Amino acid sequence: MNYYEILGVSSTASAIEIKKAYRKKAMKYHPDRNKGNKEAEEKFKSAAAAYEVLSDLAKRQIYDQYGEEGLKDTGYGGPGNAEDIFSNFGDIFEDLFGFGGSKDSRQQRNGPEPGADLRYDLRISFMEAVHGLDKEIELTRPDTCWTCEGTGLRPGYKSQTCSVCKGRGQVVRSQGFFRINSTCPQCQGSGQIVTDPCQDCGGNGLINKKERVSLKIPAGVDTGARMRLQGKGQGGRRGGQPGNLYVIIHVQEHEFFQREGSNIYCSLPVSMVQAALGAKIDVPTIHGTKTVSI
Ligand SMILES: [Zn+2]
Ligand SMILES: [Zn+2]
Repeated sequence: MNYYEILGVSSTASAIEIKKAYRKKAMKYHPDRNKGNKEAEEKFKSAAAAYEVLSDLAKRQIYDQYGEEGLKDTGYGGPGNAEDIFSNFGDIFEDLFGFGGSKDSRQQRNGPEPGADLRYDLRISFMEAVHGLDKEIELTRPDTCWTCEGTGLRPGYKSQTCSVCKGRGQVVRSQGFFRINSTCPQCQGSGQIVTDPCQDCGGNGLINKKERVSLKIPAGVDTGARMRLQGKGQGGRRGGQPGNLYVIIHVQEHEFFQREGSNIYCSLPVSMVQAALGAKIDVPTIHGTKTVSI
């Protein structure tokens, strides 16, 4: 199941629909309500993993284009341990229960945010791998929106101090006897409100860009070789550095030749007569035909 199916939403679902769908699943399968139920636990975990990606626009764009694989090299991955799941879990439940929210979220949300690394899988033929080639690939990547320089703000406008938390990013709530600090629901902890979003990127700070990239693939590459293109990954936000693009080479099999390390093998049928009397045979090689005496 893909992440959309796990949450039961369409691939065009809005952020609000995704949040609602996740909340429903998380409430239903929460471990506290399903003590000892392994299946519920698994469902809870996969819903959390799906939500972690789909709730983040940058991750969602990568997921839509490159799938789960695309997120692996970015260090995003899925939530690998319980801590990740529950920090994510805190995020959505804080408005229900009045707790959660990480302390440094404000700084993370306002400071420069570097772009994620991206991955591109490239298939080349056996002969292309042997001789090397220059190749141009076309890809779409989320690049910094240069209209707003990745801030999401309409040029000439400033973000406003959040009126709910007065810019602190946290609000204090009374919960029975307790007073609990939680992330401000209006500004999501940034302390700032974008009242005039950039019209080009809709306030996201990133914009999908089609780009042609030239690659010099050296002779002798094998499957699994990685080429790193600096700065060609996802764009940074608010002055953050762009990520890198990793091109992963996949070499297709050849009908005659097999590669083993730096040697190339091919099988050639020989008739009984040729084998018995010896013969001169034309053998195909990667550099053209050579005559071999048997
Ligand atoms: Zn606020
Ligand atoms: Zn913009």
